[in-house]
Amino acid sequence: MLNIALFGPPGAGKGTQSRFLVEQVQLGYVSTGDSLRRELREQSDLGKQAQDIIASGGLVPDEIIVQILEKTIAAHPRANGFLFDGFPRTAIQAYILDGLMTKLNSSLDVLINLQVPDEESLRRLLERGKSSGRSDDHKEVILNRLKEYHEKTHPVLDFYADKGLRVDVDGTQSVEQVQQEIRRIVQAQYSKRPVALVLFGYPGSGRGSQARALAEAFDLECIATGQMLDEEIAAGTELGQRIQNLYERGDLVPDEMVIPLIEKRIEQAKHQRGFIFKGFPRTRVQSYILDGLLMKHGCSAVKVLDIEVPVLELMERLDRRSRSEACMPYDTGTERIVRRLREHERKTVPVIQKYGEVHGVARIDGTGAFEDVFARCSDEVRQMFQVGGG
Ligand code: AMP
Repeated sequence: MLNIALFGPPGAGKGTQSRFLVEQVQLGYVSTGDSLRRELREQSDLGKQAQDIIASGGLVPDEIIVQILEKTIAAHPRANGFLFDGFPRTAIQAYILDGLMTKLNSSLDVLINLQVPDEESLRRLLERGKSSGRSDDHKEVILNRLKEYHEKTHPVLDFYADKGLRVDVDGTQSVEQVQQEIRRIVQAQYSKRPVALVLFGYPGSGRGSQARALAEAFDLECIATGQMLDEEIAAGTELGQRIQNLYERGDLVPDEMVIPLIEKRIEQAKHQRGFIFKGFPRTRVQSYILDGLLMKHGCSAVKVLDIEVPVLELMERLDRRSRSEACMPYDTGTERIVRRLREHERKTVPVIQKYGEVHGVARIDGTGAFEDVFARCSDEVRQMFQVGGG
């Protein structure tokens, strides 16, 4: 998860910059101001309670803000982090944010403080007032909002400076310059966190060899579950013995055995820039578990690639492999090959579809030379390392 707060006085450009950032990063957007205005339009109980305070330029009580926050967070159940705009605005709200983050097993990564002097805020908000239709964009109300900012909100900055999370940005620069600075700050945060690439493809699509090559080229830890289980057997551990027994009976290895192994690999690979998963997830349940694991281990982006190769070519490739030294035990015979392709179609394709709805799937043309497919995959991986490219 990556959590960012945009901080600054009214008129500093938090809303404008948030809009840019939301386009670039896949974070849940939390604007307490926008949420309050929505409640107001809907004339909900919360909206009615906040109405007069907003109109006078005062700060809405923390009690109401907590409820607004709960609603907004609940609307993003699978968000891989949040962008907070206009929150926290009081010392109490800073503690609320701390609590909220802890509940999500996460923490705030950076607070970007847009610095703008009062005269500039006033000028901008008066200008905005000509078209915004906001009841609080009038001179008297703006002056009160600035007063509230200096009395209650500005002191919150020290709280974050002490934690080493505050980064100042000169908000008087052009919108584009501020945007660029923010982008750099966010990019630096992303670079600190591991990314995850999930590689799908039919048997014979080349996903195994592409996964290994991509891992090597981008310093990623390749977590290939089938291979991982084989290694456990080869290491002769107690778990390895149990896996061997299951194999011999032709049973599937249950999730309770596979998942701790995956987690161990993730933990041991902390120094790497991220992970490539191959052969996992294979079921809907596993996709939920993987998302949980990635969140827990602070992954900033998840990218899903599906390597596509026409069925006839898959058959040709697998047939060729069955007659080569690289022949796998499951490659021998047309019947076995067809069964594996069917299995993939029946079980994994729906998972890719479902998983894709959450993260989006990049479809890779898997035909042609290995290097060409590798170049196509590499383009996607490079994008993943850009701001929020997951
Ligand atoms: P904004 O859109 O962020 O400028 O917020 C507009 C108004 O909503 C503010 O002047 C406050 O009255 C209220 N508001 C927004 N966010 C908060 C917050 N975190 N705490 C208290 N009041 C808020």
